[in-house]
Amino acid sequence: MEKQYDIIIAGGGLSGLTAAILFSRKNKVLLIDPDTYPRHKMCGEYLSNEVTGFLKELGIDLDLETTMNLESLKFTASRDKQIKCELPQGGKGISRYHLDHLLYQKAIEKATFLQDKVIDANFKDDSFEVKTITQELSCRLFLMATGKRSLLDKKLDRNFIQQKSPWLAVKMHYKFDMETNLVELHNFDGGYAGVSKVEDGHVNLCYLASYESFKRHKNVDDFNKEILSKNEFLKAFFKQATPVWDQPITISQISFEKKDPVENNIIMMGDTAGLIHPLCGNGMAMAIHSAKIAYEELQPFLEGHISREQALEKYAITWDKTFQKRLKMGRLLQGILLNRTYTKLGLWFLRRFPFLLSTIIKSTHGKPI
Ligand SMILES: Cc1cc2nc3c(=O)[nH]c(=O)nc-3n(C[C@H](O)[C@H](O)[C@H](O)COP(=O)(O)OP(=O)(O)OC[C@H]3O[C@@H](n4cnc5c(N)ncnc54)[C@H](O)[C@@H]3O)c2cc1C
Repeated sequence: MEKQYDIIIAGGGLSGLTAAILFSRKNKVLLIDPDTYPRHKMCGEYLSNEVTGFLKELGIDLDLETTMNLESLKFTASRDKQIKCELPQGGKGISRYHLDHLLYQKAIEKATFLQDKVIDANFKDDSFEVKTITQELSCRLFLMATGKRSLLDKKLDRNFIQQKSPWLAVKMHYKFDMETNLVELHNFDGGYAGVSKVEDGHVNLCYLASYESFKRHKNVDDFNKEILSKNEFLKAFFKQATPVWDQPITISQISFEKKDPVENNIIMMGDTAGLIHPLCGNGMAMAIHSAKIAYEELQPFLEGHISREQALEKYAITWDKTFQKRLKMGRLLQGILLNRTYTKLGLWFLRRFPFLLSTIIKSTHGKPI
């Protein structure tokens, strides 16, 4: 295979795929991911409408791909403590199995795809040497889109990797009868679960739980029965829902620590630059948006109009300006949701002033891009 590229992208999730589509318009791009497509992936699968217009510009019309227009939110802590509101922008219910595959098909129209894993990247003499398990390659710009946590983060000795990551996530698709336009968010001890429909009519249940609360239980089934089912809505869900897969998808060591959007001259995109708490339902839109920012700020460097330093600085500044507020709000909300007294107080307040819930949701989202 060819060894030299303008751009190499490590990671073919939403940010890496979007960047591959954009940069391959004018550059020689290599996209590397160890997986093949389509494949299921950990996610609540609520995609905010702030990126649906942009995806249409890329040639992906989500109105043709899913009829699940998610327009309202029901939040519960137990049977009698629930609150409902309209989602200010709304979103689409679409599985990562389908969405990533659509982007992948677009990306490989012009970019080259290599099924492999990046194990090292070094900046030397104004270019990058990139090592995968099978190849040694070089490029002018190296973009890292390897998600929440990867071996490459360890290799690059990134700060967040030293911190504890006491969160795990579980996802399963079910056959279950629920409102098509609704997203449910159910609180339980040590975590919360999102429930909504995806394009094939199946219901995705995806939750985040603290390792502390999970470790006292034998397995996912036991945890679902003993802890999630204390919330009456989840109890009713598990009673009626039929799993579609043999096993749930699980991941652990999820970190919400602060990261930097540029490190060692490498551009970080999506979760690699910063992971918003999943309850905000904005991580996918941020991943796609960060790739758009990367394209807008770095293409002038590739065309020789600005220096590398200027381009990297512009990317870091725009990234911070666009996402830092949302990340902070996400941290604050997660803190409230995982404290029983604060949650009770918060619900009491929101039931009296329900319009505030929309305001809170707006603060974790951006405007359509
Ligand atoms: C429990 C949970 C629920 C969520 N629910 C929602 C939701 O409902 N709505 C929403 O908008 N967001 C949600 N999110 C967030 C969302 O899933 C992420 O923000 C989004 O997937 C980030 O995309 P990404 O491109 O950064 O990374 P990813 O989509 O994770 O892609 C990373 C890719 O990098 C590849 N990779 C890893 N290491 C290497 C390597 N060394 N070399 C090459 N490739 C590599 C992986 O194979 C993977 O394909 C949720 C997150 C969690 C944890």
